[in-house]
Amino acid sequence: MAEPYSTESIAYRSALEVIRGVEPRVADAIAAELTDQREMLKLIASENYASPAVLLAMGNWLSDKYAEGTVGRRFYAGCRNVDTVEALAAEHARNVFGAAHAYAQPHSGIDANLVAFWAVLSQRVETPGLARAGVRQVNDLTEQDWAQLRAEFGNQRMLGMSLDAGGHLTHGFRPNISGKMFDQRSYGTDPQTGLLDYEALRATAREFRPLIIVAGYSAYPRLVNFRIMREIADEVGATLMVDMAHFAGLVAGKVLTGDFDPVPHANIVTTTTHKSLRGPRGGMVLCDDALAEHVDRGCPMVLGGPLPHVMAAKAVALAEAARPEFGSYAQAVVDNARALAEGLLTRGAKLVTGGTDNHLVLIDVSGYGLTGRQAEAALLDSGIVTNRNSVPQDPNGAWYTSGIRIGTPALTTRGLGAAEMDEIAGLIDTVLSGTTAAAAPKGGLSKAHHVLDAAVADQVAKRASDLLAGFPLYSGIDLS
Ligand code: PLP
Repeated sequence: MAEPYSTESIAYRSALEVIRGVEPRVADAIAAELTDQREMLKLIASENYASPAVLLAMGNWLSDKYAEGTVGRRFYAGCRNVDTVEALAAEHARNVFGAAHAYAQPHSGIDANLVAFWAVLSQRVETPGLARAGVRQVNDLTEQDWAQLRAEFGNQRMLGMSLDAGGHLTHGFRPNISGKMFDQRSYGTDPQTGLLDYEALRATAREFRPLIIVAGYSAYPRLVNFRIMREIADEVGATLMVDMAHFAGLVAGKVLTGDFDPVPHANIVTTTTHKSLRGPRGGMVLCDDALAEHVDRGCPMVLGGPLPHVMAAKAVALAEAARPEFGSYAQAVVDNARALAEGLLTRGAKLVTGGTDNHLVLIDVSGYGLTGRQAEAALLDSGIVTNRNSVPQDPNGAWYTSGIRIGTPALTTRGLGAAEMDEIAGLIDTVLSGTTAAAAPKGGLSKAHHVLDAAVADQVAKRASDLLAGFPLYSGIDLS
């Protein structure tokens, strides 16, 4: 396969020189990041390599513009070019995902979820509250009616996937604002199979009667049936929100279709744009017509002024995602994840759910006698970048964990295929098999520290770097 991003190197060489003239340490950090990305195996499931067109769309004077409001309806003058890029981002998003409405302003996935929560609260709590009081907007409510409405905002329920089953902190967990806003209950996976237990979820939903059911995950290696999720939501009068931050690229690339495509089934869908979708860091909300006006209030309700340069990059990334090549890319991401899982299973690794149907694999490293934190550190010593993650019913909690999450969106962009995935599975197994828990200062074994022979780490890091040298990244930039 041809080097994906070879031709645009000149623009970056010049950019580095301009930055070096002002703050050389920043230029050095940017250059060093390129070296790391060239030489280390990037297996973090939520990362990717955005294209030069996406990166360049962000580094320009669109960044200088204030543009609160929506397309054609701004609180600032002179927004015609921002209108163009925001409208293009929304148009491409509607086309790529087949959505009725798209809102391209959220600055991140967390922000997209906040916009979605408040859109649902606006539709289902605020609008009836205003109607009851016979007024059109919150400023017209009496102090008493306003106090009642605020109490109602704070008294709503949400049902989301539990963290150790693979859910995300923003799905109603206490450290995040969603857990402080909503009375939350979670659903999980079957302890035997590790698969989502829809009937247990249905029973919880019937009893708890949430306003919102959130589907979507950060670390669940299987598919979710959104038709069943919508059926459950309808049965209990809940709004179905799907957070497809991780798998948006698989939806855009038409690998997830029918019951597994969230867009036709959910009332509202949120996403990041930088993970499998391979765009700029940012978020987005898609919704049905009934929620559109509520979603569009995102700024200034919960968002600061939009980032026009990032919306420009979202438009570029979505134009890329509309191309047939992106479908092949998305399929290769899933094929590679399966090859990686098979390579690990063949070597005796324990995987949560026994494999994968999407872009990620969750290794239960207790099989190697390690915590996730020890495994993550040993792999990093060896040039393999991953992140630790809880596994279901994790005895080591959310800090040390017992899992390592790995994903294929980034290395697939780089052009690696099934044969390389098998070799990488071997490298991971070599490192984890060669690592032991260090002794704790007070006796017993540490959960934090590990022991790995430096010769093994160096040998694996060298092989990782040699392997990646066959899949060059910006070869026109010489950093020597
Ligand atoms: N939702 C899910 C499912 C995620 O996995 C993440 C990121 O890890 C987010 C939301 C938050 O995205 P961001 O980091 O862009 O705020």
